[in-house]
Amino acid sequence: MPIYDFKCRGCGHQFEGLVLPARTPPACPACQGQDLERLVSSFAVNSAELSQAAIKKAKKAYAGSPRQRDKQVHEREVFVEHVKEREEDAQR
Ligand SMILES: [Zn+2]
Repeated sequence: MPIYDFKCRGCGHQFEGLVLPARTPPACPACQGQDLERLVSSFAVNSAELSQAAIKKAKKAYAGSPRQRDKQVHEREVFVEHVKEREEDAQR
């Protein structure tokens, strides 16, 4: 699950967000700005519990963004990503 720290160049707010293929990073939850700097990946999510917490957090950030209309699609993509991740784990 690609989770990154972002820093907003507009207001300096730092937050975590999911990066999905072919998608731009989430908007800044503080000022809705999209001029974001992607910081070094904060952590590799291994445990399902941690992953769930991160997804919940990211969803929360998305819910407050102007992209709420994409929410259903977004949730579906997160779900697919998660299933894929579990399948890969099972193959190891
Ligand atoms: Zn901002």
